[in-house]
Amino acid sequence: MQYVFDFTEGSKDQRDLLGGKGANLAEMTSLGLPVPPGFTISTEACRSYLATGREPDGLADEIERHLSGLESGMGKRLGDATDPLLVSVRSGAKFSMPGMMDTVLNVGLTDLSVAGLAAVAGDQRFAWDSYRRLVQMFGKTVLGVDGERFDHALETRKKDRGVDSDVDLTVDDLRDLVAEFKEIVRGESGTNFPQDPRTQLDLAVRAVFESWNTDRARIYRRQERIPDDLGTAVNIVAMVFGNLGPDSGTGVAFTRDPATGEQGVYGDYLPNAQGEDVVAGIRNTLALAELERLDKASYDQLLDIMETLEKHYLDLCDIEFTIERGKLWMLQTRVGKRTAAAAFRIAGQLVDEGLIDEDEALSRVTGAQLAQLMFPQFDPAASRTSIARGMAASPGAAVGKAAFDSATAVEWAQRGDDVILVRRETNPDDLRGMVASRGVLTSRGGKTSHAAVVARGMGRTCVVGVEALRVDPRARAFTTPDGARVTEGDVISIDGGTGEVFLGALPVVPSAVVDALYGRAAAPPSASSGPESEAEAEGESSDVVRREVVSAVLRLMRHADVRRRMEVRANADTGEDARRARDLGAAGIGLCRTEHMFLGARRKIVEHVILARTPEQRDAGLDELRPLQRADFTEILEAMDGQPVTIRLLDPPLHEFLPDLTDLSVRVAVGEATGSPDAEAAALLAEVQRLHEQNPMLGMRGVRLGLVVPGLFELQVRAIAEAAASLLARGLDPQPQIMVPLVAAVQELEAIRDMAEATVAEVAAETGTALRFPIGTMIELPRAAMTAHAIAEAAEFFSFGTNDLTQTTWGFSRDDVEATFFPAYLERGIFGVSPFESIDADGVGRLVSIAAWEGKETRQDLELGVCGEHGGDPDSIHFFESIKLDYVSCSPFRVPVARLEAGRAALVTEGSDSR
Ligand code: PEP
Ligand code: MG
Repeated sequence: MQYVFDFTEGSKDQRDLLGGKGANLAEMTSLGLPVPPGFTISTEACRSYLATGREPDGLADEIERHLSGLESGMGKRLGDATDPLLVSVRSGAKFSMPGMMDTVLNVGLTDLSVAGLAAVAGDQRFAWDSYRRLVQMFGKTVLGVDGERFDHALETRKKDRGVDSDVDLTVDDLRDLVAEFKEIVRGESGTNFPQDPRTQLDLAVRAVFESWNTDRARIYRRQERIPDDLGTAVNIVAMVFGNLGPDSGTGVAFTRDPATGEQGVYGDYLPNAQGEDVVAGIRNTLALAELERLDKASYDQLLDIMETLEKHYLDLCDIEFTIERGKLWMLQTRVGKRTAAAAFRIAGQLVDEGLIDEDEALSRVTGAQLAQLMFPQFDPAASRTSIARGMAASPGAAVGKAAFDSATAVEWAQRGDDVILVRRETNPDDLRGMVASRGVLTSRGGKTSHAAVVARGMGRTCVVGVEALRVDPRARAFTTPDGARVTEGDVISIDGGTGEVFLGALPVVPSAVVDALYGRAAAPPSASSGPESEAEAEGESSDVVRREVVSAVLRLMRHADVRRRMEVRANADTGEDARRARDLGAAGIGLCRTEHMFLGARRKIVEHVILARTPEQRDAGLDELRPLQRADFTEILEAMDGQPVTIRLLDPPLHEFLPDLTDLSVRVAVGEATGSPDAEAAALLAEVQRLHEQNPMLGMRGVRLGLVVPGLFELQVRAIAEAAASLLARGLDPQPQIMVPLVAAVQELEAIRDMAEATVAEVAAETGTALRFPIGTMIELPRAAMTAHAIAEAAEFFSFGTNDLTQTTWGFSRDDVEATFFPAYLERGIFGVSPFESIDADGVGRLVSIAAWEGKETRQDLELGVCGEHGGDPDSIHFFESIKLDYVSCSPFRVPVARLEAGRAALVTEGSDSR
């Protein structure tokens, strides 16, 4: 087993073994770029250390061999008294974890070698300042001394000297500080600061290994979903110094603008400074362009190198560099992070430049990025100062009057006001208020709180957990951290992409990407669109950015459509939604829920049907509903003409159509108490009590309803058939599919199928039209999945209802758990993401794949789709592609995201199929 690799040995494809930083340092070395020499201790060594609590056998010898090589290459020995080699010891995991793990610079400085460094550099101050930094960093990260102790000593010294900046301390000050720091180390850790350079090195390496498991690193990994068992590599690099005077310095740079994707070189430079000074913000940095004036040769070389890196990595790179007395050194590079807009734009640019093909470009953007671009935003040109910040729970930019309860929100929205619902936390009673509001703001709760989950589900902008705001629902007000009071009716703005809260109305601009996806031209910039931001004044206008982003999105969407194997349909229940979905690229409706058609004014009629005492009463109710249903279906089928429309027969528990038990009880009790009993209410109450269920979700719903309430499903099938017949007569091409919900046994489906076929045949005969519609079922119960062989005998299609399938497989009530114990489950890592949001591939997903496979065995042309929430979730879409479903169906607004991800997923499976 080899644990240590010289920079001349590795490559960028070895991030698993060498970590991101090590792999890229090796890559730059083999490209012949000026990288200080060094070597990498592998993640394998770290994993072994973390498992056993000691360095693996042979590691010390390997480090010795590589260190000797480094020493002879540099012509210096580590910590030598006359001309010391110094090294940095840097962490570097496979995935970047900025600032989460440890780094120690200037390793090799001792009481002896500090003099040698001073002599060689010709600079006493520089040498003692470097030594001071080492004792401080080593004490803190390796020996666990509280960093405050050093900071305090440094501050006291500056105060005593009457200076503001470290730079103004003299050599004597620094020498005294080193002595003082060493005392702090001895007092706090019980050991002396080690004077043997190799001991310093070994202890620093061990500290980096151990920093993998600090609390902050663990929390970061959980958030970013980085596996816990990867470990970090450790890079030992010969030190180069940017703090050797005005001809030295250090900087960071990007090969394109990571915010907008604009081509050109971006970065910051800090003369006479060491790496950590740039991030620490001690002094103001210069724009990179200034370097051209300060050191033209290094600047030109840097630009050349950046071009080489882009051509080599075929992507935006970010880099860190140091200039030591006019000589440029590359300390790091990696493919850089970028905003959603920049991701699309850069992918498009790289195709134009012939550097990558469209497949590669598609693989570099994500559905989550597209979703970000589809929400309205606060005008980037407007100035803004937030009053508080919470968690960004559901994207978008919302402005409205603060309302502190649901009833007020609904009332104001009805009179035409924009409202932001402000609560400590929301509960299901707030649903109406949330629907009526532009946005939702809570002071408590996390990303899976009720507010967050529900708001995301309905595409409402939402910010949760803004703990700094004191919300007082009784006083109908909240207080900001600086004491300002916002009362009911005051206008506020919330940014669901950043979690920020603002006073007053910020200007909102619609998403140009959505306009373009709908085929609408983006609005021309208005002449009065306010002053441009400073950044824009220097660079290109936001209009150029917008145009280029939009054209890149459209181009990659086209390519995704070419590539994808799965179709994308929409979940839509109205003609308007159907049209919207179609405009956004849906190829049909995968789920038309019919329950909404029985609410509102029609609820009364449904109530009569359910509570009917005689067949005549029931039929009268059904006859009243039929023309209304027919009109509903006609509108939807017309809007989706020529495309499949999967209409699901009535599904929800009965109680949803009946008056509320508590309300009725109160009415009856009040009637009795006031001596005027309400006979009708009493009769109704008796019926409602009779039909009351403890677990309605597991009760009288779905196909059970159809089998028990005579005539109900028949009414719906007849309405579908009549709607189709009338459209055919008008020369259109309606394509309804009839779907039966909550089937667990094939016998249930057979009974409904017999009825439906007979009804369709009747309508065909009555209207003289040839009618035949596919009849299929939802697969949303484990028993249905496990008996898919049999069920496929009676079904022409399966549509996986992964919402109910998740609920019933886990035994999780979908209406309750996300607000109760999910936060604890997420915290404990039982799952990384809610299984209602992203498919649980191992459990629920396995049922889907077994059912799909067995269904196809029975019926080769069985159509397979998914219509649960997961149909619009990127990770889930990749799973459905891997088990070869025919389509996913999701809410209209998520259709573009699903198209993009289905295309990306097809690329991945194509790649693995051909391997
Ligand atoms: C499902 O259960 O996944 C589904 C789509 O149906 P609903 O959400 O209406 O129960
Ligand atoms: Mg369902």
